[in-house]
Amino acid sequence: MKKTPGSLKRRLLFDFHMPDFLKEIKINTENYVADLKEMKAQWLTIMTKSSYGNCYYESRIGEKVKGLKGDLLKELTPLLKKNKVAVIAYYNVSLNDVESRKHPDWQAIDSTGKKVRFEYYDQLCLNSPLVELVEKQVAEIVSRYEVDGLWLDLTYMARFGCFCQWCQKLFQERYNLKLTPEIKKDVATNSLLQEFARVSRFNFIKRVCDTARKIKPSLLVGWNHAGDFFFNEIEIDRLADFSSVEFHPPLYEEGSIRARYLRNLGKPFEMMIPETLKGWGDWTVMPESTMKIMATQCLMHGGSINIGHVVVPCGAFGGKIAPGVKQTIKKTFHWVNKISGYCPEESVPVNAVFYSAENSRLVNSSALAECDFSQHGLNTLFGFCKILLAGNLHFDVLGEEQIEKINQYEVVMLPDIRYLSPEIQGEIINYVKKGGKLLASYLTGFWDKEGKIVPESDFTSLLGVRWEKFSPYSISYLYQFEKNIASGLPDIPLLVNESEPDKKSFRHCVYVQSQKAKALAFLVEPLIESDHTNYYHIYHRYSPPGKITRYPAITINNFGRGKVLYLSFPLGATYSFSKSPWLKQLLLNCLRFLNPDSRLKVKAPSTVEVNLMKKGQSWYLHLLNIAPFRTSGYQEEELPVSGVECFIRKEKVNRLTLLSGEKINFVRTKAGVKFSVPGFTTYQVVKID
Ligand SMILES: [Zn+2]
Repeated sequence: MKKTPGSLKRRLLFDFHMPDFLKEIKINTENYVADLKEMKAQWLTIMTKSSYGNCYYESRIGEKVKGLKGDLLKELTPLLKKNKVAVIAYYNVSLNDVESRKHPDWQAIDSTGKKVRFEYYDQLCLNSPLVELVEKQVAEIVSRYEVDGLWLDLTYMARFGCFCQWCQKLFQERYNLKLTPEIKKDVATNSLLQEFARVSRFNFIKRVCDTARKIKPSLLVGWNHAGDFFFNEIEIDRLADFSSVEFHPPLYEEGSIRARYLRNLGKPFEMMIPETLKGWGDWTVMPESTMKIMATQCLMHGGSINIGHVVVPCGAFGGKIAPGVKQTIKKTFHWVNKISGYCPEESVPVNAVFYSAENSRLVNSSALAECDFSQHGLNTLFGFCKILLAGNLHFDVLGEEQIEKINQYEVVMLPDIRYLSPEIQGEIINYVKKGGKLLASYLTGFWDKEGKIVPESDFTSLLGVRWEKFSPYSISYLYQFEKNIASGLPDIPLLVNESEPDKKSFRHCVYVQSQKAKALAFLVEPLIESDHTNYYHIYHRYSPPGKITRYPAITINNFGRGKVLYLSFPLGATYSFSKSPWLKQLLLNCLRFLNPDSRLKVKAPSTVEVNLMKKGQSWYLHLLNIAPFRTSGYQEEELPVSGVECFIRKEKVNRLTLLSGEKINFVRTKAGVKFSVPGFTTYQVVKID
């Protein structure tokens, strides 16, 4: 197979983790391959070594799963090749109950000295001699079988730090510092611990991949979470041939947000979807409408879908894929085939949300972040992006490595990106000077690289404000909105609360002074700072609004030929927590005010996700109606939509074509073209030539 994995859209993952106590594990390989053929799979990620630690091929060094007769890889590979299915070897790296029993000293150890279990399996440490075993097994697989690729799963260090003997020794050598749980309490040493975990994972993956590629240079190499915000390990991810992240039902919005980042990394990506209702190993199947929605999301953002499936190992249903699973995948792949010609990989730049790995790492090591920033930082990003999705706005998520692309965008958003390196600041300032529109929230640009507040800088001049202090209150209200941003808001101070009333807030609003910026709304202090533990609260939950401050909540600043809108409250994190419709409306109003003449405007129900892609001179406007059943979250039916009105500004527009091939009318205006999309069910795409 050539190195063009992006063109293979219909992928399957045989995620087959079976224990040794099963007397018999049945797989009829010929039937299985016939099923793959019937489903029209183009790619199979196939189990070679499971979470239990056992193998599915005849390993000279490892132990084969006891109930399996023969060598699954040897039997399957030629059959798959014959049917032109790409074969990718799945290898589970750090979970291994078998080797854990043999080598207790390879186990990952937590800060209390206990061995680490990842879900239901023993987790081994990447810094232990495990790496030699993995290298040897991977070498066996790649040299003895005709595989096209290698895909590593569970390439993780223990989540809250590993304190095993191998890590102790290495940490001491590298930093001349003793590795103890106390290290987490200080920002500087905590960031060393994080760096240590990151470098350990980097070295491990690189060593294994180098070994595999040396044996077979054409090998496609990837791993789970390559390109994932949660991992935030951009250095090692650069070495992957393709990105892979998980996408679980019913987290449709998270899937879209991830895809909008992945498509900008300059390599193909896949999203792996369990076939089940909940997660891997559920023995259920999701509704066909749900799977089709998720497949459409993968495709329309330029990626591939990779769907999990297994055979029941034994018993009355043993040896085959459940017919219900096979049929659901088959219909989904039929759909994938139908839409794939309309799904190019490049986005039309309109709105960009900036994501910074460097900032995330810094926040992650600070005391503010508690111990689990990944969740906190992503709440901010996801909060912003979910509002954009609900507002029918098209956007990309760009990382630091794509910073030079910002000049193509109409609006760039910086959701609480506290630390911006001088280079990134320079790029952003230039972007605004040349006429760009920037929207920044909360502590964006207010931190130095030690996480200390910088009250005034070139960047704060760009915002047009100066730092004064944090609000002394955990919550705030917003009021006195300028009429341009007040549309649809009720006349009541709007609550900003990012945690439960009796929980400590980590994000007090920022009191800034306007330098050159004009205030568009003001912060309101609550009557009291509640203390529920000590019986000091008004009514049940939050304190009511008290005093309107002179501190702006929203400002607008003209800078060069551009504009900067600044929000002094933590909008993204608050929206993730409260889901306040008013904060959603407020952000959408701000964006409309900042960028009234966008090249794309879609008026549709909030359930319709909007995405604009391009290939050559053609643009593709995707409209996906995600309207899950109200109690389950699953898309259980195909639902009709009507009344979608669009405006597009594009150099040349000659014709508009729907997915069915039907042409639709449009009206030329001075600014662009306007058209109505005929009513559709769940999904429509308009090709604009
Ligand atoms: Zn360790």
